[in-house]
Amino acid sequence: MRDIYPDFYKRFKCIANLCEDSCCKDWDIDVDSETEKFYNTVKSELGDKIRSLTYTDEYGERVFRSSDGRCPFWNDDMLCDIYIGLGEEHLSRTCANFPRVRVDFGDFRENILSFACPEAARFMLASDKSAYADFGGDYELESSENDDDYMSFLLKARNRSVELLTNSGEPFAYRLADCLEFNAQVQSLLNGEEPAPLESGSDNGTDFVFEMHKRFEIMSGDWRKALGETADRADSLTISADFEKDFEKFALYYIYRYYLEAVNSNDVMYSIKRIVCAYIVTGKMDAYFAGLGYPFSRMRVLQRYSKEVEHSYDNTEALNAEFDKDERFKAEDLIAVLENMV
Ligand code: SF4
Repeated sequence: MRDIYPDFYKRFKCIANLCEDSCCKDWDIDVDSETEKFYNTVKSELGDKIRSLTYTDEYGERVFRSSDGRCPFWNDDMLCDIYIGLGEEHLSRTCANFPRVRVDFGDFRENILSFACPEAARFMLASDKSAYADFGGDYELESSENDDDYMSFLLKARNRSVELLTNSGEPFAYRLADCLEFNAQVQSLLNGEEPAPLESGSDNGTDFVFEMHKRFEIMSGDWRKALGETADRADSLTISADFEKDFEKFALYYIYRYYLEAVNSNDVMYSIKRIVCAYIVTGKMDAYFAGLGYPFSRMRVLQRYSKEVEHSYDNTEALNAEFDKDERFKAEDLIAVLENMV
């Protein structure tokens, strides 16, 4: 089994109370059964507090009961009472691992950091595609859980998608359009169909993308406000070339994190269409905040999109469902939208 990492992975360290957001804010904190078993043995005020604040949520998961969107063990100094009282080794798996994400493909495992963590986002924004050199695709695939030919095909398609997205000679909207077109051909092959050139599509504007995001589950009031204010003037906002340089890093993260989901879903378009949505929403939001002198930095716009949309299971499912049912998300129509944004 080979573990693959981007080159910045092992340099990451949580900055705890210096963090401008926190993974202790807005999210439910899962408590795995092994950790809970230990917590049940702790005889102290802290042990009593942990037990009284652990419950089973609507998904059947054991979680801490948050108050005002905060983990109940995140103290006024923005430090963790469990870490202080019981030690790092007794954090729940979710807390100990975040923002590290491991995706197991049977023959190899890809390890990545989540963009929802500001410190991890900074590492990714400071790196280019060379940081992912080990994700190249020439893995020694041994036959086990996955069909080797299928995985090799997906790895090659992912490499080509990365090449298209990082073709710095073109505006990012054109690169995304090229990536959509390429993956529409890949999808035809996965469906057992003959790839055919796409017909020209309709430019439906970007309002429907914002309307969809406004219907999503939203955790924080400031994100709702930023989304609403950007949506109101989206047509007049132009995505800057400077933003595109940073968004390329977000797109790289996203494609390495999600493209190979196609090994189970048999769908490469979901991940690319989700990048298109992220580009439109965060690009326009960045342009809006630029006009206000950046009260909310670009890194935070991308990081918060990751936290609010990408990291929500419900929102990701809702995105994929919209792609399936709303004709305006057809590849040719999204290409027309992107080409008209330049
Ligand atoms: S979001 Fe990242 S830097 Fe902030 S507290 Fe969590 S792990 Fe640490």
